[in-house]
Amino acid sequence: GNNIIVKDLADKIGVSPSQIISKLIGLGVMVNQNQSIDSDMAVIVAEEFGVELTIQETVEESVESIEEKFSLDYEDDPKDLKARAPIVTVMGHVDHGKTSLLDAIKETSVTKSEAGGITQHIGAYAVNINNKKICFLDTPGHEAFTSMRARGAQITDIAILVVAADDGVMPQTIEAINHAKAANVPIIVAINKMDKPTANVDRIKQELVENGLVPEDWGGETITVPVSAKNREGIEDILEMILLVAEIQELKANPNRNAVGTIIEAQLDKGKGPLATVLVQKGTLQVGDMVVSGSSFGRVRAMLDDKGKRVKKAGPSTPVVILGLSEVPNAGELLYAVDDEKTARIIGEKNKEIIRAEQMRSDQKISLDDLFERI
Ligand code: GDP
Ligand code: MG
Repeated sequence: GNNIIVKDLADKIGVSPSQIISKLIGLGVMVNQNQSIDSDMAVIVAEEFGVELTIQETVEESVESIEEKFSLDYEDDPKDLKARAPIVTVMGHVDHGKTSLLDAIKETSVTKSEAGGITQHIGAYAVNINNKKICFLDTPGHEAFTSMRARGAQITDIAILVVAADDGVMPQTIEAINHAKAANVPIIVAINKMDKPTANVDRIKQELVENGLVPEDWGGETITVPVSAKNREGIEDILEMILLVAEIQELKANPNRNAVGTIIEAQLDKGKGPLATVLVQKGTLQVGDMVVSGSSFGRVRAMLDDKGKRVKKAGPSTPVVILGLSEVPNAGELLYAVDDEKTARIIGEKNKEIIRAEQMRSDQKISLDDLFERI
């Protein structure tokens, strides 16, 4: 049901918060004036003061309902959609070579002039292959599918499943397959560590079949690519396969609208303030835009690309680091560009209230649980 903050209840009844609190203690409920109690409890307390409280069932506000209210993430007209680069996540069992493969891809695709600048880690990077772009999420694939999806957002277009050729399908491999299948994301299997003498491709393919992934050359639909991240072999092949799968998907977004993106990672920089890596998904994010993400808002003061270079604009499927937010946003949260500062502030502050209320509710739940434990 609905919750009411003790202080507000006291105001409504016309008594002091401490009077309410002592009644609540009498009822076995320990709360302070800033915490909330549920509406049934509020009715009982009000009765004790001879006040009949009627509960109005209000629609509970949430960060999602605010998004809707301000139509932050409206549908685009199909005629405004343009092709965009695929967003790829690498998944697989520990030590099968996810990090090594991402590093190999980075090195293969970086031109000499860019080398050196790419050392910084921002959680995502874009590579160019045959004049086409691919965006890789550099976060552990598992997180990309869990925390990133906490808000229902689906940011991955293609999953690369890394399986070590000398080890085979392992528990986290199966977990990764399940995540990708649940999200309806196509899987490309990178059979890694092909340089090892004990590498056994047929055994890996057999194990894939046992887990519902039938390789193309065995009559199925799963693309498998033998690679060696260590020796930089098969890297171009896997990039080409990604582009092929992406082409079939016909990925599109409208670049000419207020930007919508997802926070990939964020931290506080002592000198620069809150820094957030945003993966732009729709629209074009520009320096000077007003943005809001949860309770964090502000004007984009500067943007850096994945090579640390200053940029003015970032279109769909582009990762950028932005400066100018009022506080550090949460990874997985959506970020919206809005028309003006006032709108950003209103949404940010509304979200702050909602998040605080949710926090209070869970705090209250904890204190009640503690109380029962003591009883
Ligand atoms: P992750 O846990 O999946 O990110 O795996 P890493 O990329 O950290 O690799 C785990 C270990 O396997 C490291 O010691 C790598 O050097 C090694 N490794 C990764 N790829 C290859 C490969 O293609 N061949 C060989 N021989 N070793 C590899
Ligand atoms: Mg790793």
